[in-house]
Amino acid sequence: MMAFFQETDRRQTDPATLMQEQKLQKLLLYLSRHSPFYKELFKKNGIDITAIQTLADLQFIPTTSKDDLQQRNDDFLCVPGEKVAEYTSTSGTLGSPVTIALTANDLDRLACNEYNSFLCADGTSNDSYQLMLTLDRQFMAGIAYYSGIRKLGAGIIRLGPGVPSLQWETIQRLKPTAIVAVPSFILKLIQFAKETGIDINSTSVKKAICIGENIRNTDFSLNILGKKITESWDIHLYSTYASTEMQTAFTECAEGRGGHYQPELLIVELLDENNKQVAPYTPGEVTITTLGVEGMPLLRYKTGDICMYDDEPCACGRTSLRLSPVMGRKKQMIKFKGTTLYPPALFDLLNEREEILDFVIEVYSNEIGLDQVLLYLLPVEETEACDHQIRAYLQARLRVSPHIKYVNAEEIQKKQLRDTSRKAVKFIDLRS
Ligand SMILES: [Zn+2]
Repeated sequence: MMAFFQETDRRQTDPATLMQEQKLQKLLLYLSRHSPFYKELFKKNGIDITAIQTLADLQFIPTTSKDDLQQRNDDFLCVPGEKVAEYTSTSGTLGSPVTIALTANDLDRLACNEYNSFLCADGTSNDSYQLMLTLDRQFMAGIAYYSGIRKLGAGIIRLGPGVPSLQWETIQRLKPTAIVAVPSFILKLIQFAKETGIDINSTSVKKAICIGENIRNTDFSLNILGKKITESWDIHLYSTYASTEMQTAFTECAEGRGGHYQPELLIVELLDENNKQVAPYTPGEVTITTLGVEGMPLLRYKTGDICMYDDEPCACGRTSLRLSPVMGRKKQMIKFKGTTLYPPALFDLLNEREEILDFVIEVYSNEIGLDQVLLYLLPVEETEACDHQIRAYLQARLRVSPHIKYVNAEEIQKKQLRDTSRKAVKFIDLRS
């Protein structure tokens, strides 16, 4: 098992940890020579990099935030401009995009990472994948999947996002064995197939790599979205989680018990609010240190994503830890009456009940600055019995009782379309 920052006896340190510690020391030396941002950070905090030897020593280095990466974007680049092979970007916290520059070696590393991911998700050279996602617009994931599948020796159909009719026409014509898609789009595909009489279970597609949205609950059971897909379509779903900044993916194996960690490419820490490592099955912020990255390596970078981890060996034989689905964004965390809630978990709870037709979750601060949760619910019927069922259910599942306000269809629509986004808003954060 992967020792996870608690080892005291060096003789018991496992080979994976030793490998990571060697790579960490190499990274620190590299950053101290080539990264304007980290050079300054080491100096300002009086950090002697030669004193950072073990993974446990990482705690002595301050974390890096998304704001740092946005405001000092250029200072993270460790190579001269002519060594940059590709500029990718990701959305920032302040509006303008954040650039992540990759060297040719970084692109190779990205391909290896995604090759490992597709292997983990039972990919072989006999597979062919229909990519239902953006491959341009500086989107790193698209090119990562593409190069990983190339390395795997499997076939690629680069179709891009949307247009269910074209997706189905291509599936029927070229017979891919797998698709890579956003789960909610898979639902749209299913709906289109039903409307147009396509027998989806007789097509060539047997598996889907699900990107961008959760298909599981934190206990790894399929969530509503995952269930809706598999109830109609007999395919295997593999979830994958990644971000542009970490240039590394956590992908599920066939067991579907969390995304497998690739310790040779990344050091992952799950940190609490005091930047202390959390225990297994406890929510923590995914904090990463890239290994082997040349262009813009990151050291203790806080992603803002909240996950839990499981460090028991997986039934597939891999022993590295596994990450739960993303439970929420750090900024969306709700501290309510002693419990911690995240919007995605609340969405799942509310989606599950037939008595609730639609909802909006509003969070605000009360007069003493504590988080308050107000649920606007569109009930199936406004009766005492229905109200009682909903309250009992929420009390049982949340162990606390949020405020509930029943509204009609018109009122809920008004709430959901309150800003300029075309998507229905289901979570409104009014906290200061
Ligand atoms: Zn596994």
